[in-house]
Amino acid sequence: GPILEACNLFKSYDEGRIEALREVSVSIQHGEFLAISGPSGSGKSTLLQLIGGLDAPTSGEVYFEGSLLGSAIDLDTYRAKHVGFVFQAFHLMPTLRAIENVQVPMLALKTSADDRVKRAETLLMEMGLENRMGQYPNQLSAGERQRVAIARALANSPSILVADEPTGNLDSVNSARIMEMLTGIQKKHGMTLIIVTHENDIAEMAPRHIRIRDGRVES
Ligand code: ADP
Ligand code: ADP
Repeated sequence: GPILEACNLFKSYDEGRIEALREVSVSIQHGEFLAISGPSGSGKSTLLQLIGGLDAPTSGEVYFEGSLLGSAIDLDTYRAKHVGFVFQAFHLMPTLRAIENVQVPMLALKTSADDRVKRAETLLMEMGLENRMGQYPNQLSAGERQRVAIARALANSPSILVADEPTGNLDSVNSARIMEMLTGIQKKHGMTLIIVTHENDIAEMAPRHIRIRDGRVES
């Protein structure tokens, strides 16, 4: 079966004054790379938040491997164990070095300190950041920071990687590099990759691309 199944999702804000999502259903397979695009305000981030267990729908259901989120599996457990987040707006912690930032998600799973450091080193090396591990975020370039954020997202070996505008702050060279890394990880680990973007050329890199407009799936 699918790794994720969203059924008839509605999401409203401000006591129903804003209908961010209406009647959205989408089924996502294990190892799939899916892009979600649409104009600003169309509901992309809201959909990603529901799929990633960051928020609950007003009505409708999200199933992870057949388990109903918020019922058969609670959202905290789902997020900590199964989902890695790469969000443009999710800043790295400025007071923590790169290697410490990468360890943050492992704290929720009570990984030993030795294992945390080893895992963080391995991930930062895979991201080509072996010489930047001791740097603070403000000592890193935008592309390097995004690579630290990807390493952090992978810390707990999630089966789903969700990325909200992962190339939003980057020039074309760094955008291409980040997309290569994300798709490389998806292929190498058979991970499910879901990205939200308003950039059509980024969305078209994905084998499957859905468009959202006014809170509804277009195609
Ligand atoms: P997108 O990611 O496509 O830009 P969003 O999902 O962020 O769209 O937003 C969809 C709509 O819901 C917009 O009108 C936005 O202003 C509104 N919205 C999103 N999050 C909230 C929130 N927490 N409270 C109130 N309105 C929100
Ligand atoms: P995006 O373009 O990805 O939607 P935004 O900057 O619009 O990014 O939104 C960033 C965060 O703010 C999201 O978590 C979204 O849910 C929330 N948000 C968006 N619009 C509103 C709003 N009108 N009121 C409160 N929160 C909002």
